[in-house]
Amino acid sequence: MSEHEHISTVEVDRDACLTAAICLAYQLYELDDEGKAVLLTSNGSNSDDPANELQTGGRVAIEHLANPEGWDADEMRARVLESAKACPFNAIIVRDTAGKVVWPPA
Ligand code: SF4
Repeated sequence: MSEHEHISTVEVDRDACLTAAICLAYQLYELDDEGKAVLLTSNGSNSDDPANELQTGGRVAIEHLANPEGWDADEMRARVLESAKACPFNAIIVRDTAGKVVWPPA
């Protein structure tokens, strides 16, 4: 089992997101018209679209994220965790398969 295998979902806390935009470098996010980060999903939509069936309350499973470079599942999980750690406001929340928060630390 890899170091990142337990990582399952990711979401952005819109209240905590203050538009630092560091996360954009990871090619997993874009800023919406309020300047908040949203997750790009594999169907060309994003986590802010209530009609997008690949998100639930803004939460997206790792396998449903957009993957423009064809990263494998482990690379994708590592990338998600790195992006969350790079956010200076801890606005990116990563959960494991049990729904427990992996990042940010409690
Ligand atoms: S780095 Fe954090 S605060 Fe900045 S846009 Fe991304 S999620 Fe929001």
